[in-house]
Amino acid sequence: MTQQVHRGSILHFPKTTSDPAANYQYFNDGVLVTENGRIRHLGEASEFFKLPANQQRLNYGGVEMHKGLIIPGMIDSHVHFPQIEMIASYGKQLLDWLNEYTFPTEQQFANQAYADAQAEFFLNQLLSHGTTTASVFATVHPQSVNAFFCAAESLQARMICGKVMMDRFCPETLQDTPESAYRDSKALIERWHNQGRAMYAITPRFAPTSTPEQLAKAGQLANEHPDTFIQTHLSENLGEVAWIKELYPEHSDYLGVYEAYDLVRERALFGHAIHLEDREYRSLAQSGATISFCPSSNLFLGSGLFNFDRAKAEGIHVSIASDVGAGTDLSLFANQADAYKICQLQNSSLDPFESLYLSTQGAAAGMGIDHLVGNLNPGSEADFVELDFMASPILQQRLLRCKTLREQLFAIITLSDDRVIERTYLCGNLVYKKGSKVCGHNSTSGLRYLSNGSM
Ligand SMILES: [Zn+2]
Repeated sequence: MTQQVHRGSILHFPKTTSDPAANYQYFNDGVLVTENGRIRHLGEASEFFKLPANQQRLNYGGVEMHKGLIIPGMIDSHVHFPQIEMIASYGKQLLDWLNEYTFPTEQQFANQAYADAQAEFFLNQLLSHGTTTASVFATVHPQSVNAFFCAAESLQARMICGKVMMDRFCPETLQDTPESAYRDSKALIERWHNQGRAMYAITPRFAPTSTPEQLAKAGQLANEHPDTFIQTHLSENLGEVAWIKELYPEHSDYLGVYEAYDLVRERALFGHAIHLEDREYRSLAQSGATISFCPSSNLFLGSGLFNFDRAKAEGIHVSIASDVGAGTDLSLFANQADAYKICQLQNSSLDPFESLYLSTQGAAAGMGIDHLVGNLNPGSEADFVELDFMASPILQQRLLRCKTLREQLFAIITLSDDRVIERTYLCGNLVYKKGSKVCGHNSTSGLRYLSNGSM
């Protein structure tokens, strides 16, 4: 039977809003019904079980009971899968960090078997941290993208990924050319984009490591494939911004470089955007692009404090992202906690409903995928997570003393790590359960998780 009934506390944001604290939907005793990978029904348990047919299901135990809180699977709008192994690398800021740690690590992904193993590891880690969709940088090697999408396909995960385009200021073994980047990216788009749940992102790493000729090719691809994503970096570090002025003196500012090559539009995701000029804020708002706010990365690399209030006031789409391996945690709760601290340093308190929204419906809406993921509306794909309120003794004690849902949510965000994720579901299938082995299977299998190392 493909229909499954889940009963428990449920929280999500059913629509796009500028005031998530006033527009969430919460069921203390709710029911979520999934069917054929999608959400069929969401509502109060008392209403649902009034109907005799559903009452019978309750009597026969055909209902999965959840003690924790069910929320939509979270969306990480900027993360580098090859960098998971170099997370927590010491002592550098952006440009030195790339040379010292990132580039040597990424060279290993020329090896298909290595890329396959790391893709599977990374995806399982995402699921165990409650993230069910991510926009992911691979490496310059097309095989790294194939490795990632094959692993995602076996889990039926909705994932965005792209081959890094990079033809200067990096080791020769990591360089492509404008032509080869275009050709390889186009072949990957044709193979993967909109195949199953895969979606492609055209991925120039950032303007310094692409020649103008390569950015022109990226823009050509973006125009030829207008529903693909674009992902890159923008104004992360002051040294980087100064370098852009040297490399591209004819452009008004950093964003202006991307604009000149048709890379600023809906479904364009810009990591960081910390050191923006007034014009760049306005232009980002008009374009419909998204800023990926990467709090733990920005603190870790000492890049600066993202001005969330300004970006929101300008009407720019913002989502929260881990940016692992510069980010220090795949957990989007941990990144929400760092986002709160970054806002506090600017005399603003980020509301916990807002930060959860930025990792679910808000992220999906900005990226144009909220008809698919980011909420628990009937018709959406059934990607969701159950949280464990007993995840740690401190969290448990703190939650007992909370009087409101806002207080509870803030405590979860501030105190949680991957222990708070009890179960993760993709397309209605259980793919992760805390304390047990996670397994990728081919997409025809039913249950995607086997307990106690039984495989
Ligand atoms: Zn990044």
